[in-house]
Amino acid sequence: MNDVALPTRHADDRLGPGGCASVPVVHERGQREVFCGLTAIVWLHRKIQDAFFLIVGSRTCAHLMQSAAGVMIFAEPRFATAIIDERDLAGLADANEELDRLVARLVSRRPDIKLLFLVGSCPSEVIKLDLGRAAQRLDRRLAPSVRVLHYSGSGIETTFTQGEDACLAALVPELPRAERGERSLLVVGALAEAVEDQFQRLFAEMGLREVAFLPPRRAGALPAVGPRTRFLLAQPYLAETARRLEERGASRLDAPFPLGVEGTVGWLHAAAAACNVAPEALERAIAAPRRRAEVALAPHRARLAGKRIFFFPDSQLEVPLARFCANELGMVPIEIGTPYLHREHLAADLALLPPGVRITEGQHVERQLDRCRAARPDLTVCGLGLANPLEAEGLTTKWSIELVFTPIQGFDQAGDLAGLFARPFARREALAV
Ligand code: SF4
Repeated sequence: MNDVALPTRHADDRLGPGGCASVPVVHERGQREVFCGLTAIVWLHRKIQDAFFLIVGSRTCAHLMQSAAGVMIFAEPRFATAIIDERDLAGLADANEELDRLVARLVSRRPDIKLLFLVGSCPSEVIKLDLGRAAQRLDRRLAPSVRVLHYSGSGIETTFTQGEDACLAALVPELPRAERGERSLLVVGALAEAVEDQFQRLFAEMGLREVAFLPPRRAGALPAVGPRTRFLLAQPYLAETARRLEERGASRLDAPFPLGVEGTVGWLHAAAAACNVAPEALERAIAAPRRRAEVALAPHRARLAGKRIFFFPDSQLEVPLARFCANELGMVPIEIGTPYLHREHLAADLALLPPGVRITEGQHVERQLDRCRAARPDLTVCGLGLANPLEAEGLTTKWSIELVFTPIQGFDQAGDLAGLFARPFARREALAV
């Protein structure tokens, strides 16, 4: 093993009441075109600033991370790949011994690391390397200065946003227990720091000063959780994390995801209702940013209203994005594909969708391409691998991964989010000129 320092589930067939609530969901199984869960390290390593992600994988995994992280390789790297080589694959080397040696070297070189994630990959699964046991062994050895946890980012098990779910789910058992009777609000899901700060300010203006975020910015600042913890999901792809928080007694608040004005207002309303914030205090806190967001959306709406949009399954953000496009930009969703539809977590967004939209869960890429070509949408949101061929066929596309990498949540990002949908049209017009 060598190190390279580099920087399905099923849902029922029917939904709950409201908007698209009674529309059947088409389940598809077939070839998928999505990145694996390792990709989530690109945004996670910026969030927990004293954590390190050690991928136990192949050169392919290392190359994926190097290209996905792009310029980040010039920064102090907070992730690397322990390469499983031919000797490991042939069983000629003791992979556990080599992993221990690499981790010891890494930790002695980098005393700033306080939390180390061993991240599994397809190759580590193929050689059945037990990273759970390895993490326990190393954790005992390195305690108390470094905690060692593990999760899988393998393409066999995860799509790219599920990498974040697996990472946060691994953190949940580590969260301290909240004191008896202590009420708290927890926001769950990685958000850009600027967005987190904006929400923190809004919560404070609503009178909520004790709001915690998962993941935290430092490994030593894990939020406490207990039966009086209420949590708001900031991302729609955190099924396992939510399940584990519920096992610890916390309760999830039903809300649309905080995309656009409608989603952000609904999300903050849910927090206010759960924490007994007076409606006037909420309205006072959100009036100005809400107005700013509406002003920022107006020019994009004028440009995008009536445009037909088709979503390929990629990030699990598709349902709230389609709701935003339909209700705030006047766009017409034709098909909303999502790799996995968690109908409880998405209930509020589904209820707000216009009726009659086709919703698909899972992927059969050939069939979906046929439907997309037949529909000739004005804009297709899809992965990188599909975008170029569709552009060559004259379709206008948007890379869905950009919607994950860009800060899009909250009032102050609503205009930027709309701009992401408007930009492909501007690009195509510029090319035509
Ligand atoms: Fe490829 Fe699997 Fe490595 Fe992801 S984890 S880069 S899918 S080999």
